[in-house]
Amino acid sequence: ADSHKAPRETLGPRLVKGALYTYVRPEITHSPELLAVSARAMKDLGLAEGEEKSDDFKSVVAGNNMIGWDDENEEGVYPWAQCYGGYQFGQWAGQLGDGRAISLFETTNPATNNRYEIQLKGAGKTPYSRFADGKAVLRSSIREFVVSEYLNAISIPSTRALALTLCPRSRVVRERVEPGAIVTRFAPSWLRLGTFDLIRMRGDRPLMRQLADYSAENVLGGWEALPAKLSDPSPDSPLNTETTTGIPRDTLEGSGKDIENRYARLYREVVRRNAKTVAAWQAYGFMNGVLNTDNTSLMGLSIDFGPFAFLDTFDPTYTPNHDDHSLRYSYRNQPTIIWWNLVRFGEALGELIGSGAGVDKEQFVEKGIQEDEAKELVERAENLIEKAGEEYKAVFMGEYKRLMTLRLGLKTFKDSDFEELFSEWLDLMEAHELDFHHCFRRMSGVKLQDLESDEARKDVAGRFFAKEPPRDETPARERVAKWLKKWGERVREDWGEGKDGERETEMAKVNPKFIPRSWVLDELIERVEKKEERDILQGVMKMTLNPFEESWGWNESEEERLCGDVPKYKGMMQCSCSS
Ligand code: AMP
Ligand code: MG
Ligand code: MG
Repeated sequence: ADSHKAPRETLGPRLVKGALYTYVRPEITHSPELLAVSARAMKDLGLAEGEEKSDDFKSVVAGNNMIGWDDENEEGVYPWAQCYGGYQFGQWAGQLGDGRAISLFETTNPATNNRYEIQLKGAGKTPYSRFADGKAVLRSSIREFVVSEYLNAISIPSTRALALTLCPRSRVVRERVEPGAIVTRFAPSWLRLGTFDLIRMRGDRPLMRQLADYSAENVLGGWEALPAKLSDPSPDSPLNTETTTGIPRDTLEGSGKDIENRYARLYREVVRRNAKTVAAWQAYGFMNGVLNTDNTSLMGLSIDFGPFAFLDTFDPTYTPNHDDHSLRYSYRNQPTIIWWNLVRFGEALGELIGSGAGVDKEQFVEKGIQEDEAKELVERAENLIEKAGEEYKAVFMGEYKRLMTLRLGLKTFKDSDFEELFSEWLDLMEAHELDFHHCFRRMSGVKLQDLESDEARKDVAGRFFAKEPPRDETPARERVAKWLKKWGERVREDWGEGKDGERETEMAKVNPKFIPRSWVLDELIERVEKKEERDILQGVMKMTLNPFEESWGWNESEEERLCGDVPKYKGMMQCSCSS
């Protein structure tokens, strides 16, 4: 956002035309309390250590200081809320928008040149609040604060969180009356696929092209940075470099007809980014819980955290969303649903991606494309979306295999690994209700010499169990032992002998010890709500920012407990998440 002339602030809900935002001022927060900041976020924004103690910082993250805007001279950058639409649970939901998020300004870290849009969530009503109050409760704010920084720490693309502010005077009515809070969050862009859906529904063709151009030039690194044509056989093709494992290349070749223009490449970039992110969610057992198109990022960031969760035991049908009766947003459906959202995005871009390289772009702003021409555009767009679907699968599989290969401590991927190692590993976890995360983490400590006999392997199998072993302990041990035999052979193949130490180090870097599971977050919330126990937040943030460590020098028994077995009846919880 550039500097603007003094905006006329306009209140009240509305349907917006011809624009995608409204200026809006955050509400004043009385007696705000800064509960936590993310040290990693401070660094990534280029803020100095200790800066969070300043009055300026505290007032900005409480919504009490519009530092970008000079009220007296009426100049600078005025805060704004974005307008977007969305398909919610598969149905077109109309205009939505930032109902309780207000962007303050953009800032660039001079050391990295990364630019971020800083936003407050829970800072009061906007014209897009519809019937809601524009507030966020402490409970959901703690969840968003922690998970944003956690996903980033395990290298999953995500929007970020800088600060968590308690608004002690704001009583927010949900299932009960709860304290309100504000999360200061940031991302290179908050554009969602739902932003494009809204323009499509408005039928605003010039705005569609304007936003597509903006997305390519300002969000996705410039037109030059977009992927090469699908039909491009050059060695620089991203198909040759980025996705090295098991790609059905022949499905990706162009049809001989030059179907791609630059908007098609823009589309494919968004497809690729989302494919990679959802692959990482699958590899790490993360579920967003509400993957509507308004919660799907243009940049492929994990975004808008409501009833999200990590798996405990491996159950592909699990959905963390209490209201998701059709399991639309279950673990197993995430890749399909993100693709469903991306098809809507392709349709929104239809006219642009169907245009072919040689067509004069001006023709698209004119009303009334001839019928036969329109038909051809649609066909080309459909063709492109179909090809992009193949690419989505290929990029997804490539990334999933890459991550699973790393997590299992292997250096290479062999076709047979998919069935024999990945699938069987997950199947046995499911069958014997083993903990998804513990299984990965504990494997790093297994040495090849521990696997030399069947008896030894059955012994090692016990390490993957919780303190209370599975009811079917004997078959469980046998099945894990059998799997360990294959795994050991593959490790030997990739590493040779005597490399257990090195491999252990590598595996610990990709298999976190700490996972912010639902039960951990619930306990955290309960204790932060009780003022005396608030220190736990600093401890959990240490673990959140460094989840691959073995210990954190905070409180050894607490650390072990929070990383340990899921307490009885606290596994695979669901969230109704009135947030
Ligand atoms: P979500 O399901 O959280 O992604 O929200 C869907 C839409 O509802 C978004 O446009 C949100 O900004 C809006 N929304 C959710 N909760 C509130 C709230 N408490 N106040 C205002 N708008 C809200
Ligand atoms: Mg949302
Ligand atoms: Mg939300």
